[in-house]
Amino acid sequence: MIMQYDSSREFAEKMDSSDPLRGFRDRFYIPKNKDGKDVIYFAGNSLGLQPKTVRSYVEQELVDWEKMGVEGHMHAKHPWLPYHEFLTESTAALVGAQNEEVVNMNSLTVNLHLMLVSFYRPQKQRFKIILEANAFPSDHYAVQSHLRYHGFDPAGGLIEMKPREGEDVIRTEDILARIEAEGDSIALIMFAGVNYYTGQAFEMGKITEAAHAKGIVAGFDLAHAAGNLQLELHKWDVDFAVWCSYKYLNAGPGAIAGAYVNRRHLLDMTIPKFWGWWGQDKATRFLMHHDFQPIPTVESWQLSNPPILQLAALRASLDIFAEAKMENLRAKSELLTGYLEFLLESRSNITIISPKNKLERGCQLSLRAEKDGKQLHTRLNEAGVICDWREPDVIRAAPVPLYNTFTDVWQFVNML
Ligand SMILES: *Cc1c(COP(=O)(O)O)cnc(C)c1O
Repeated sequence: MIMQYDSSREFAEKMDSSDPLRGFRDRFYIPKNKDGKDVIYFAGNSLGLQPKTVRSYVEQELVDWEKMGVEGHMHAKHPWLPYHEFLTESTAALVGAQNEEVVNMNSLTVNLHLMLVSFYRPQKQRFKIILEANAFPSDHYAVQSHLRYHGFDPAGGLIEMKPREGEDVIRTEDILARIEAEGDSIALIMFAGVNYYTGQAFEMGKITEAAHAKGIVAGFDLAHAAGNLQLELHKWDVDFAVWCSYKYLNAGPGAIAGAYVNRRHLLDMTIPKFWGWWGQDKATRFLMHHDFQPIPTVESWQLSNPPILQLAALRASLDIFAEAKMENLRAKSELLTGYLEFLLESRSNITIISPKNKLERGCQLSLRAEKDGKQLHTRLNEAGVICDWREPDVIRAAPVPLYNTFTDVWQFVNML
């Protein structure tokens, strides 16, 4: 369907009143500006808003802890021992995985390290890691540290993909050509699902296929993709993935993170893994012996018993995703971000550096503000817009389909 947008405010209001997901905005607390009105919150790519149900989900665990103490592990309304399992189905649906392939644990960078321990297994001739030159710093640090740990110099061990001269995003064909040309020296591909800076969504299926054809492991950091794109990790045959849950997944600052391992690897005992008691077979975990028998799912990567209050907050949020369904959210997201693009192009002279092709982007558009960009960002902020500024010259605006409206987008561009 080609949407005929128009730049009147009435159009935005009409889109909102016919939006089948419009009721979901009320499930979230929207921060207020200094006049007590809802802000225009376009920072869900940085920290998602709080679902109103989070408080009761967390409160339930506080009450059970208050009333039962240690017995809550077995007898809480939602017993703590298997608590993470209550999130498995909704997590799997969200990222297009099978149940045994996903778990919520730790934080994003920790999970990335755990996956690198298992899936970065360099050999003498095949040791390089390919990633985006402008990948998020934590991802760069993580892969550099693993190169060093294995005795390689990051200067020679990293292949950093850049856009072509004069372009802002990396062409898929260039990634595939690089894999084809240098594949024999590459041990691992570690790309983002969506680049945090440009908003580019990488074609994970194609990249994985090209990697596998060359015997390369393919892993993705889905920090900006989970809860944003419709993911099909299992179908794409991705080897591993990690993500955080405080951005599009709305589970709160420092929320517990997620991990995916393709089922093909789950029973492979030759894969190195760091062990902890929460990865131990559930039937024998409390026998407290020292013979590690891993759970036959991705749960065997768990180290510790998880933070229940964090899981409760995430469960509240995932229940909303399960109800709204990612395919519906994505359909609205394409319309909403397309509308932002339309208005920016017809009413401003700002350059959009995110891809034009909607299959290569999610919610976020990155706007290049060459002159006085930082000042522009500050003025938007004073006018009641929360979006973010990334050095050297980019304003990131992410209209989120769960709680943003077409009227938010209209007002944003009008102020701009
Ligand atoms: C947000 C983000 C992180 C943050 O890492 P934490 O371990 O959650 O602090 C890392 N990588 C990417 C790509 C991100 O977007």
